[in-house]
Formats: sequence, structure tokens, C-alpha cells
Amino acid sequence: MAADPSPAHDLPVYVIGAGPGGLAVAAVLRRRGVRTVVLEKSDAVGASWRRHYARLRLHTTRRRSSLPGLRMPRSFGRWVARADVVRYLEKYALHHGLDVVTGVEVTRVERAPDGPGWLLHATGGRRLRCRAVVVATGFNHTPRLPDWPGRASYGGELLHASGYRDAGPYAGKDVLVVGVGNTGAEIAVDLVEGGAARVRLAIRTVPHIVRRTTAGWPAQSTAILIRRLPAWLVDPAAAVLCRISLPNLAAQGLPRPRTGLYTRARQGAIPVQDVGLLDAVRKGLVEPVAAVESFEHDKVVLTDGSRVSPDVVIAATGYVRALEGLVGDLGVLDARGRPVVHGARSPKGAPGLYFTGFTNPISGMLREMAIDARRIGRRIAKSPAA
Ligand SMILES: Cc1cc2nc3c(=O)[nH]c(=O)nc-3n(C[C@H](O)[C@H](O)[C@H](O)COP(=O)(O)OP(=O)(O)OC[C@H]3O[C@@H](n4cnc5c(N)ncnc54)[C@H](O)[C@@H]3O)c2cc1C
Repeated sequence: MAADPSPAHDLPVYVIGAGPGGLAVAAVLRRRGVRTVVLEKSDAVGASWRRHYARLRLHTTRRRSSLPGLRMPRSFGRWVARADVVRYLEKYALHHGLDVVTGVEVTRVERAPDGPGWLLHATGGRRLRCRAVVVATGFNHTPRLPDWPGRASYGGELLHASGYRDAGPYAGKDVLVVGVGNTGAEIAVDLVEGGAARVRLAIRTVPHIVRRTTAGWPAQSTAILIRRLPAWLVDPAAAVLCRISLPNLAAQGLPRPRTGLYTRARQGAIPVQDVGLLDAVRKGLVEPVAAVESFEHDKVVLTDGSRVSPDVVIAATGYVRALEGLVGDLGVLDARGRPVVHGARSPKGAPGLYFTGFTNPISGMLREMAIDARRIGRRIAKSPAA
């Protein structure tokens, strides 16, 4: 399919990805009268939320997770369930009359060779010309599975957390969950509640754990208040709060972290919100163990030298942003594959190219994506074609 040679001002804006980040930008642009098309590789909006595990609820409040131009209804409660997030995203696209084209995967973004704007290469041989492009492909779609020695010849069952839906298949089984971010912590608790025979949690770096609310005050509100303060101020205060409000589980294998909460958050490790992990560890229902070092036939070798033989290993080891194929040629990614800018700024030498959803802010990603959407919308609406 040939690229559209229309003059720049007639060209649409393409948003890649119909998750919350992409839908929010499209809604703002539409309200500003900018012709915008959202390209989505799956068959519906909110694809990543359709795949998440069943018990998932937002750990950010409903009020602070709504996207521009449509609040989540009160009936969703304060901590919105996964299925309601999907419902909200469906309604959001309809409410704003968004032009979402599903089943189209953008494979490469390049500068238009013959004039202003951008050229997208997409499945089905499509070549799509646009005045600006917003990359909102998310960073939770390509699982990161560490290349542990012996992994390929491991005889047991090993899956990434992205393949976990609920505890049903693991009832009566001995399960090792690897990684203690929010996902690993929540899956471990889900397994306990779902009747797994034994649940161990392999921990490489002890996480900061915070209560979702303290006396009705959400952790997210604290995060918003402190996010511009220096770490040297926040870290000691957070340590005191942690000592007062959380049990010391060092004897159960979950000591308090040595590095400050905010220092770690700035390195990308946001705190784990407690949805039952502390209680499960205190009762011995989740057993913290050392990190995974390697695999040996049907055994898992831990960094303290011990060997365990679980029935199933669930790797809650995160995701990679996987932007290299899409924009890797443009010099807009840093050494870790992250966009060099986000929000309303375009990378140097790539005017009209925007990214949203590739940071992991302590104040909540949905909230930050809503802020980015307004800024990106304003910037694009004011800009001539690049
Ligand atoms: C388990 C979990 C819980 C979370 N809980 C919270 C929370 O409580 N509060 C909060 O604020 N944040 C939370 N987040 C973080 C964040 O808000 C979500 O991940 C959110 O879905 C990110 O939105 P997004 O639009 O950037 O990406 P996604 O929701 O991943 O959407 C990206 C879309 O792009 C599509 N796509 C990808 N590549 C292409 C391509 N090449 N061409 C076309 N389409 C493509 C995908 O199919 C997908 O539909 C959570 C994340 C996870 C993983």
C-alpha cells in the first residue's frame, strides 16, 4: 500500500497502542479537533488489562487513575478491579468517539522520505503517513525472563508471570515465585489463598513494602506529595514510618531494606503495596528464599547454595520495553532501550515523535499518563507538521 502524499496539514496523527496511554492522548487530540487514528495490534482496546491475572486491582485510587475527559464511576470502588479497568477503557474509547483501528501492528517508524512528518510501516504492507506519531506501546507486553544458566534444560514447569491468570492450576502444588515486585508479591498471596501446597518467594533485593492505606490515607497520595523532595529527606522519614507501621519480618526471611525507599524508587524500583504479603510471610504461608542463581535438571539453585525442587516456577521478573524494532534506528533510545524523552518533548532531531508510558513513577503511571496526554495534545495541536 503506497504512502499518502497529502500536504502536511491534511495528515492525521497516529497513536500506536490502544492502552490507557494511547487512548488518553487520542481523546485529548480529538477534543482539540486534531484528526487522530489509534493503531492497535490486538483485537480490542486495553489488551494488556485483558491479559492480567484475575485478582488484580489498581493500587492507585480510582480518582487518580482516571484519564482526561471521563472519570471512572464511583460504583467501581476505591480500588478498581481489573475487569472494571477493561470496561472503563472500552467506554472511554466510545465516549470520546475515538478512531481505533485494531489488528494493525506498527513495525517501524521512520521520517517521511519526501517531506514533513512520519512514515509508519505496519502489518499488511501498510505505509501510513502522518504529521506526528505518539508511541504508546507500553512496557508490559514483552516478558523479561532472565537467562539463568541451565534454564533451557530445566525439566520442571517454568512460566513467566504474564502467563499466570489465577491459582486454580496450582492448587496442591509446590510453587516458587521469583521476584518480589508488586506482581510477584500478589501472585504469591493468590497462590496461598488458592490452595497451593507450598509457596516460596525468591528475593534478590529486599523490596520496600508500604501499606496501601494508612488510617484511610492512600500511599499514592503520599507519593504525590513527596515526589519532588530530595531523597535525603524522604528516605529517613520513610524508614521511620516503616518501623512504626510495619512488622519486622527479618526472622521470617524478609528483613528491612538497607537502601532508602525513595533512592530505590528513583532507580526504578517502586515500593510493593501490601495486599496480604506481610501477613502471609508472618504466618509462614509464604517463605522468602534467596534469589535464583541457576537451574540443574529438575532443581533450582539459589544464591545461598541451597537447591529446591518446586513443581512450578513462576518468574515475576518484569518486562522489557522492546522499542528497538520500532524506533531503534532513530537514535531516540538510551543505552537501556528507554526513550530519551517522554511527554510533550520530542527527541532532538525527531520533531513530532512523542512517547508516553515508558516511565515508572512513584505517583502512579495512569495519573502520569493522563498528565502527559494533556501536554502532548496541547503541543501537537499547536505545532505545524514536523
Ligand atoms: C500488573 C500491573 C498492574 C498495574 N497497576 C497499576 C495501577 O494500579 N496504577 C497505575 O497507575 N498503573 C498501573 N500499572 C502500570 C500502567 O498503568 C499499566 O501498565 C498501563 O496499562 C500502561 O498503559 P500503556 O497504554 O502505556 O500500555 P498498555 O496498557 O500495555 O497498552 C499498550 C498497547 O499497545 C499495543 N501495542 C504494542 N505494540 C504495538 C505495535 N507495535 N503496534 C500496535 N499496537 C501495539 C498493545 O497491544 C497494547 O494494547 C500496572 C501495570 C501492571 C503490569
